[in-house]
Amino acid sequence: MKIICIGRNFAGHAKELNNPVLTRPVIFMKPATALLVNGKPFYYPDFTKDLHHELEVVLKICKNGKAILPQFAHSYYEEVTLGIDFTARDIQDELKAKGHPWEISKSFDGSAVVGKFIPLEMVSSDGNIEFKLRKNGEVVQHGNTSDMITSFDQLIVYVSQYFRLLQGDLIYTGTPAGVGPVQIGDKLQGFITTVDGKEKQLLSCQVK
Ligand code: MG
Repeated sequence: MKIICIGRNFAGHAKELNNPVLTRPVIFMKPATALLVNGKPFYYPDFTKDLHHELEVVLKICKNGKAILPQFAHSYYEEVTLGIDFTARDIQDELKAKGHPWEISKSFDGSAVVGKFIPLEMVSSDGNIEFKLRKNGEVVQHGNTSDMITSFDQLIVYVSQYFRLLQGDLIYTGTPAGVGPVQIGDKLQGFITTVDGKEKQLLSCQVK
């Protein structure tokens, strides 16, 4: 399986990192070894001093497809969850300044926390999903997919032009504003709002 990640998909987040707001998504990947299943502890890597959380809605691809047409894009994902795209921001800033790829800042072991998947229809009737991250109980990120620059369906179309999507692949769809540092001892919890208006916890990660 592959983990495809979308960067700068919320204007508010692009602005907080002084990045231009793009009309085309930024794409990068994480290997399968980056996956950290919900509830497992995350060990703070010793190569960074500025590890950031980025809470994102994650799509699970449910069938194989290449060069997917817009009218069929919605049929390629049936389940969603929340994930954390852990980022060594100090390393990423160095790489960006040199124009180098981001992988060692984004794709290291355990950098893709993934929550419990639930059917899409449990959280959205119109494609809009509200989600938030609590750090030690306090809300630090709060987003709604209606603010995404490139929608889920548009991402499926765009990504599948370049990469054949396979059943089980994951797409991290970008983070809203509010990214910030985590420290050893922090507890991160991801919540999604269900169609009946309740908050449902899908993700928990203890930083050790
Ligand atoms: Mg991200």
